[in-house]
Amino acid sequence: LLRFDYTPEDCVTFHESVKKYIVPLYGKLQQKHKEALGVDDYRPWDTEAVLTGEKPLRPYESTEELVEGVLKMLKNTDEYFYNVLNAMKEGKTLDLKSRKAKSPGGFCTYLPITELSFIFMNEANSQSDLTTLVHESGHSVHDMLCSSQEAFGYMNTPSEIAEVASMGMELLSMDKWQEFYKEPEELKRAVKEQLKGILKTIIWVMVVDKFQMWIYTNPEAYSDARNDKFAEIASEFSEAFVNWRGYEQELKHMWKKQLHIFEVPFYYIEYAIAQLGAVQLWRNYKNNPEKAVEKYKEALSLGSSKSLPELYETMGIKFDFSENTIKELMDFVWNEIEELN
Ligand SMILES: [Zn+2]
Repeated sequence: LLRFDYTPEDCVTFHESVKKYIVPLYGKLQQKHKEALGVDDYRPWDTEAVLTGEKPLRPYESTEELVEGVLKMLKNTDEYFYNVLNAMKEGKTLDLKSRKAKSPGGFCTYLPITELSFIFMNEANSQSDLTTLVHESGHSVHDMLCSSQEAFGYMNTPSEIAEVASMGMELLSMDKWQEFYKEPEELKRAVKEQLKGILKTIIWVMVVDKFQMWIYTNPEAYSDARNDKFAEIASEFSEAFVNWRGYEQELKHMWKKQLHIFEVPFYYIEYAIAQLGAVQLWRNYKNNPEKAVEKYKEALSLGSSKSLPELYETMGIKFDFSENTIKELMDFVWNEIEELN
């Protein structure tokens, strides 16, 4: 799978470090959420519940408003980012609106003849649709930057860097979300959800990765054993106070919702590696926005002509998911969350 820069053992250490540093932090957030909801028993469906008196976040009304707002945010980050998405808008390569019988999901793909990217998604006025368009814009910027690579193969980039481009773009846009949220309280909530999402995503990626490692090293284990193992791993990565009683079967089968397990077997760990890269990029951006953006563009324009550690280094970040780095980055994210309180 072209993974020359890390080993299965590194992934096992990664799982353990996440269990040690990220699961307890996420547990603290869930504990607070549980108290705010005022429930004694915290059930799986409570984990995403909106508090009484709060409305779901609705950052915009129409697709046009979404595109215009994202264009403005990109312009305020870097003119080049704006030009990429604006060319796609003019070239009509944005298929964003949800409609009957449209395939689900979201993605970005490069069209080499028109030299534009194409973004597909199913927006329905939610906060995650806003971040999806920003995310896919990050992929489009990456596509455009590597299109100058002479060797076509170098335009094809592995997820460990491609997802830094996109997840990084989400985080770089965050200080401009007032474009969509006029109410300071709503803005704060949206940012907090995003940061909480970083922890949640990394934890889920570990569950899926550990499970996939187990599947491929235990090929004789069939359906029941797989389901049981999944529930066991999911419980390892979850604080005990989320009560699944009566829904044990649902928990056992939850791995089936992850399309990567079926469509791109053994992929997924890349998202957590890239998320750590994106957090480092964001930290650099907060210290020096111009320099961080410049290095982001410099690294992405190399396509896959360099190794992952070299690409990360060019971006001014480390290709590293050791225990120390995880602790340091999570302390940083945690401080940012605390500052919102
Ligand atoms: Zn992506």
